[in-house]
Amino acid sequence: MICPEPSELQELVRDWHQQALPWLAAGSCSRLQWGAPVLPGSGESEPRVLSTRKLNQLVEHCAGDFTVTVQAGMPLQTLQEELRAAGQWLAIDWPWGSGPNGEASGTVGGLVARGLAGGLRQRYMGVRDQLIGLSLLRADGTAAKAGGKVVKNVAGYDLMRLFCGSWGSLGLITQLTLRTYPLPRHRRGLLVQGPLENLEQLRRRCLQAPLMPQRLDWWSAALAGHGQPALLLALASVSSAAITDQLSQHCEAAAALGLEVQGLDADVLLELESQSRQGSGAWLLQLGVKPASAAALLADPALNGVACCLAAGPGLGVAWAEAATLPSYRVEQLRQRCRALGGQLSVLLQPASANPPLPCWEASPASAVIEALKREFDPLQQLARGRLPGVVQTTVSR
Ligand SMILES: Cc1cc2nc3c(=O)[nH]c(=O)nc-3n(C[C@H](O)[C@H](O)[C@H](O)COP(=O)(O)OP(=O)(O)OC[C@H]3O[C@@H](n4cnc5c(N)ncnc54)[C@H](O)[C@@H]3O)c2cc1C
Repeated sequence: MICPEPSELQELVRDWHQQALPWLAAGSCSRLQWGAPVLPGSGESEPRVLSTRKLNQLVEHCAGDFTVTVQAGMPLQTLQEELRAAGQWLAIDWPWGSGPNGEASGTVGGLVARGLAGGLRQRYMGVRDQLIGLSLLRADGTAAKAGGKVVKNVAGYDLMRLFCGSWGSLGLITQLTLRTYPLPRHRRGLLVQGPLENLEQLRRRCLQAPLMPQRLDWWSAALAGHGQPALLLALASVSSAAITDQLSQHCEAAAALGLEVQGLDADVLLELESQSRQGSGAWLLQLGVKPASAAALLADPALNGVACCLAAGPGLGVAWAEAATLPSYRVEQLRQRCRALGGQLSVLLQPASANPPLPCWEASPASAVIEALKREFDPLQQLARGRLPGVVQTTVSR
């Protein structure tokens, strides 16, 4: 792994381009192995990794404009601490596998390169919607910029969002400008457990309530415990009274549906949120379905014994399980089920014993366009060789 100084970066990338060397862009390498494996160059046993660890400065926080500009290798945890001191935050969950206070949550560049957000997306939208500007190095070392530093930008070709979710396959992200939000003054929630069809009725009600939930997450029975699924609801507002009012209405509705309700203060809410992104398991799956079909997915026998947390609004989430709990054929069934419910499933991690091994993702209907873009940005196929989201790989990740 190479961690160049910012001043050395461009020359290094140009040099590798002249030699046509394959390499992989990385942040802190916390989740580099997720997804399809990256092929090393000829004569190399491991892919050459370029980490942005030394590109870790906060460039500018315009608190009045609610924007922040950072270098790509800035740890997400450090950024949130800096913003908190100014009463603001990036309205994004800690990624799966992070500690309770965002330990090992990776870098801001890695976050944007993967382009995924958790249940907070319900209220604040996804990473790509919070991205305002981006600087990058192309495979040949050419520096480029997209977007800007203000929330309203001139319309044009949207290079920024192309890089959001590109998994390091199109170029190296060097700097980002993101939208910030004021820290919510009051925060409380509910954990509601019971039969799936009754929870589904409550889900619809919560999403139509005047106070938009900050999160409304489905928990599978294996994650919630006691043999039944649950909904985790979080509300945030400047007004504590508004939260009290909404929560009491939701509690009444839940009671009428015969559901079991646990009130959560801010600290317990944080603990449960932390629980929903931590677990062990040789399988880690990223899955999504049409929001209205999430309950149908949770009811599917293929999810039996599998911990799964799905944001109820967008219908996206993760599932994890030990190898012994989940044979490959059931993951394949789950994939088919997700497809039938209008979504998809990506295999981020799988056990060495998986038989047959599964491809990380299926071919996207846009795979021809994705491959054409790849050729445009990276004609020598240097970047993340063998790993292109939406294009099926022949090898698999273990
Ligand atoms: C709530 C939430 C949920 C998430 N869920 C998922 C999920 O289900 N699946 C998932 O894959 N990710 C998910 N992520 C994103 C994941 O957390 C990030 O990949 C991780 O935080 C980045 O850690 P890292 O900096 O150590 O990156 P690394 O582990 O070093 O790299 C991660 C990926 O980003 C690329 N990359 C890193 N830095 C750059 C850069 N500067 N330029 C270009 N490419 C770069 C790498 O090539 C690699 O593909 C989620 C994030 C959040 C906030």
